[in-house]
Amino acid sequence: MENKKIIVTGGSGMVGKHLQKFMPNATYLSSKDYDLTSEKQVVQMFYYERPDIIIHLSAKVGGIVDNINKPAEYFTDNIIMNTLLVKYAHIHEVKRFIGILSTCIYPDIVKNYPMKEEELHSGPPTATNFAYGYAKRSLAVQIDSYNKQYGTKYNYLIPSNLYGEFDKYGENSHFVAALIKKIIQAKRENKNHIELFGTGTPLRQFTHSDDLAKVIKYCVDNECYESFNVSTSENYSISEIAKIVLKACGVENLEPRFDTTKPDGQFRKDVSNELMKKCIPNFEYTSLYDGIKKTYEYVNKLEL
Ligand code: NAP
Repeated sequence: MENKKIIVTGGSGMVGKHLQKFMPNATYLSSKDYDLTSEKQVVQMFYYERPDIIIHLSAKVGGIVDNINKPAEYFTDNIIMNTLLVKYAHIHEVKRFIGILSTCIYPDIVKNYPMKEEELHSGPPTATNFAYGYAKRSLAVQIDSYNKQYGTKYNYLIPSNLYGEFDKYGENSHFVAALIKKIIQAKRENKNHIELFGTGTPLRQFTHSDDLAKVIKYCVDNECYESFNVSTSENYSISEIAKIVLKACGVENLEPRFDTTKPDGQFRKDVSNELMKKCIPNFEYTSLYDGIKKTYEYVNKLEL
């Protein structure tokens, strides 16, 4: 891969910053370099950057409330960005394209869990991220279609919920980042509890962003063209996760209280990593406890 130009879209985001540790020689782009929802700027990106390999991380990503409030933006930005990127990658004869999807794109309910890749189109995504889910799921359809019609060897990875250093710790944050921030604030204000949204019963898989970054690097280095789920096997309820997080942050005395007037989101969406483990047999995922510990140590030093 030494002489190949690797472009990472969304390079300024959480996953992009984790990937920089493992692939320091790639070029990391943000929306300040090119707005990839603009066809003109996508054309310019290909003209100026001349990529051999594209790792497509960029997306409009947000929490459950923002997804509920702005479905049109989540749909339009994501579907345009993805459609243009694959279309122009093919026009410019880019040999490798790795798209990053999300387990939010899976059907709301299936018969068997954990979900395998073949379940992807067996029902609509959950209502709380319906627009984002369909837009991102369409990237899988587009990549599969290009491979079928044009013989490209593009692939996509479907990670479960991600967390880690460089996550958003301000507005519009995801569950783990919001939880860590609440813990830090509760400690600062000498509170004895933290408040969490929903009932605490939904099941979630949280994968550390370093693990996704390592899988992406493996695919590039080893010419792995398979599309598969990327997720730890750990699948816990939100209240179990809260306990693990409190322990990893050394604040087991804080009581998690659940605000049941707030939405829960999808009840479960755990995916199988069987296919991924066939492709990368000795891969070891970071445990939730270890990943949170590492993340908390980093975030605790930030001025939130
Ligand atoms: P993130 O932190 O929100 O970063 C998003 C990235 O996309 C940023 O670099 C952003 O650039 C860029 N971007 C957004 N709109 C753009 C536009 N119009 N033109 C060009 N670039 C644009 O996201 P992330 O958490 O790293 O997620 C990376 C990928 O993993 C995404 O495809 C996401 O769907 C997927 N994923 C994420 C999670 C999760 O829990 N975070 C879970 C599963 C899958 P700026 O910095 O300039 O805004």
